[in-house]
Amino acid sequence: MTSPEFHDVLIVGGGHGGAQAAIALRTSGFEGTVMIVGREPELPYERPPLSKEYLAGERTFDRLHIRPAAYWDEKQIALRLGSTVVAVDSDARLVRCADGTELHYGSLVWAAGGDPRALPWPGSDRDGVHSVRDREDVDQIISELGGVNAVVVIGGGYIGLEAAAVLSKLGKKVTLIEAMPQVLARVAGQSLANHFELRHRAEGVELLLGEQVAGIEGDTRVSGVRLASGAILPADMVIVGIGIAPCVEPLIAAGAQGGDGVLVDTRCRTSLPDIYAIGDCAAYANRFADEKVLRIESVQNASEMANVVARQICGGDAEINAVPWFWSNQFDLKLQTVGLSLGHDRTVLRGNPDTGSFSVVYLKGGKVVALDCVNNARDYSHGRRLVELGLAADPDELADTTRQLKEWLTREPVAEPAGAKP
Ligand code: FAD
Repeated sequence: MTSPEFHDVLIVGGGHGGAQAAIALRTSGFEGTVMIVGREPELPYERPPLSKEYLAGERTFDRLHIRPAAYWDEKQIALRLGSTVVAVDSDARLVRCADGTELHYGSLVWAAGGDPRALPWPGSDRDGVHSVRDREDVDQIISELGGVNAVVVIGGGYIGLEAAAVLSKLGKKVTLIEAMPQVLARVAGQSLANHFELRHRAEGVELLLGEQVAGIEGDTRVSGVRLASGAILPADMVIVGIGIAPCVEPLIAAGAQGGDGVLVDTRCRTSLPDIYAIGDCAAYANRFADEKVLRIESVQNASEMANVVARQICGGDAEINAVPWFWSNQFDLKLQTVGLSLGHDRTVLRGNPDTGSFSVVYLKGGKVVALDCVNNARDYSHGRRLVELGLAADPDELADTTRQLKEWLTREPVAEPAGAKP
């Protein structure tokens, strides 16, 4: 009988969070055994280029690896790839893989990300209907592109817009359908959304806003997308970007608290002993959103949470503390976002969008809570400090682009209004 396999730290998921947790453990001098169990067959790789340079054919897959292949051996980080964890037993401190293998752990780091949300429309299983979540998705899209002219993109979030931009640059006739009256409805204000809409239309992308999809047409392969109005848009390929569902079932089944994601505290601890959760699948009370419990889907968040966990496993202490940031590239628009604009009560436009470089500053109760900066790295880097410090700023002054945002950093702090919390 073989003895059970034990790892001091077992990491489930070999994406951004999982890889960074292992890297941070070794960087911090952790000498115990570390294993990553990953469902994908690939070495850990960067996901953001999938809808950008990789789809465009501008970057090969080997240039997406988070670390060169030799790194994992050198650092003695065991990789069990192509393996899915299907169950967790927190009393026995073990996980079970789909092939029945049981792996015992000292600490478990759940970094399983999310799966594209299940498509709710009849016909969604037709060939030629794709999500953009992993390498396999994008390789399949690329392999079919030669025979494709008309592409319908469903969803006007970052991934849908990035895919639309790349595919239209590749010469495809792209139509994007968004159920809300504007693109980026979940994450950005109207003025930024309008700028991206104008740009996509100028590049030949047809945008159908406020439209509902009713079904996918075609026998075995997709031939069109049926709208709620009854109209059918011809399509040789459909790309769906309607968000993700966090991969948390085994943890929730094991008794971890959570719903839309596993609930963690600011030290990334779940409600189960010695089980941490990080990245897209973890929800926590975010200090940049008035302590609202949120999942943040970004590389920065996954990396920070990974570092927090590594610090604790190494015997130190750390909490999630960094201001969230994010980026998106569409055509020549380089968007950098810092902070969370959720619940903002005022926006200020800095600069003229017609020049191609501008920022939108989001205020809440007079304080700067977020910025969207388009081709404006300077506002982004100074604005970041404003958000970190939660500084108050006068909207008219903020709109004056002869003044740099760093000016506010050297001013005397504005007094808290009477009755404000200590
Ligand atoms: P992931 O990187 O998704 O890794 C999770 C891994 O766990 C996956 O490999 C998954 O297969 C595996 N897994 C799931 N279940 C199991 C299981 N039961 N057992 C074993 N393994 C399992 N963020 C940005 O900040 N900027 C961007 O520009 C940007 N662009 C993006 C573009 C695309 C196309 C996508 C898909 C995402 C983009 N993101 C971007 C988001 C960013 O990639 C994610 O926030 C980040 O990858 C989250 O890391 P993670 O470790 O939580 O999850």
